[in-house]
Amino acid sequence: MNGQKITPAKIISALALLWLASSFIYPVYLPISGKMVQINIYPEFYLIPLFGIWRLRTEKQPYQRTRVKWMIGLFFLYWVLIFNLFPQAPFIDGTTYTTYLAVHMVGSLPFFILLAAVVFMGKRADCGWNCPCVFDRETIAFAFRDATLKGDFWWRFRHIKWIGLVAVWGYFGYMLIDPANAYQRFGERMYTVIMWAYYLSFLIVPFTGHRSFCRWGCPWAATWGLLNLAGFYKIKADTARCTDCGLCERECDMGVPVRKLIREKGMIRSTECMGCGRCIHVCPKGVLTFHDYKDVFKSRNLSPLERNIRLAGGLTLAGLIVLDPTSPVGYIGLAFFLTGLFGYCLTYAAINALATKVKAAAGRSKSQ
Ligand code: SF4
Ligand code: SF4
Ligand code: SF4
Repeated sequence: MNGQKITPAKIISALALLWLASSFIYPVYLPISGKMVQINIYPEFYLIPLFGIWRLRTEKQPYQRTRVKWMIGLFFLYWVLIFNLFPQAPFIDGTTYTTYLAVHMVGSLPFFILLAAVVFMGKRADCGWNCPCVFDRETIAFAFRDATLKGDFWWRFRHIKWIGLVAVWGYFGYMLIDPANAYQRFGERMYTVIMWAYYLSFLIVPFTGHRSFCRWGCPWAATWGLLNLAGFYKIKADTARCTDCGLCERECDMGVPVRKLIREKGMIRSTECMGCGRCIHVCPKGVLTFHDYKDVFKSRNLSPLERNIRLAGGLTLAGLIVLDPTSPVGYIGLAFFLTGLFGYCLTYAAINALATKVKAAAGRSKSQ
């Protein structure tokens, strides 16, 4: 298989991937307590924690260990807790749908939240830390990391994902023009194709590497990728210190031509980079550093832990606005989220500026 070594971890991983794919492709039912019950439904819920523990025991790089811990934590926070608290997500066409499935669905509230998060933090807001797919691929499928197909030939395959871009935004336009019929006439078929591609992709992991679907086939990869270019995210390179050793490029699971980008552009700004940070942490010369909204809004007076608590807690509470727009708790959560996003200074400066303008306008209308 692709010249790679077969290990016990790979054999177990291959069986788990087969089981995961079967949950959609070939549901297995058994009679339990007089009812037919699907026994391979949502295997992610036990496979991700199990393989996550294995990852934590075997991963050497501290940043990747942190990433795996966050993935397992976010898996429980978002995919178990929040989706139980907010079981239905609203869509722009006025409908609602199961939050668990709606998170990536075109036109849903979580979809727009993800778009904004990618603008601020880059594709890593989803594809590096938070997508259900990344949980699967960085835990269950991770044993096949060394099978990743790299080089110029495979790099060209990344263009397949632009088909997804056309489909996703074509459907979005359809939803706006004809919300009553868009799903039946187009959306349903589109999601069926995506789901088949998504689950079948687990079967090719042993031959292509764990992130091949993200690199080539994911319909959202192109949208997130464009926002990677348009938003605040990039990896800066101190080119004077680079020895062109190539370690960073060999480490990249997305097959990004890291050295070429450093040489030609002095930074990594690519539609494929999902912000795993491997290239940064493997570089012996400390050439590479993350750059995102925090470097633009230089008002960081929060510790990383406090900022993350504000972001996650604030966003959770802000979700209440959707359920009850008159609830003050939701707006307090939104303010909490904004202080996490921009730091105190900018948020309060913006609120003060707004308050001053409102007062001035009120004063003017009184004096007239
Ligand atoms: S590229 Fe697609 S499937 Fe992969 S992590 Fe990102 S959104 Fe998920
Ligand atoms: S690992 Fe560091 S020094 Fe080596 S090519 Fe990459 S950026 Fe340059
Ligand atoms: S370029 Fe660096 S941060 Fe981006 S995906 Fe590759 S290794 Fe990860």
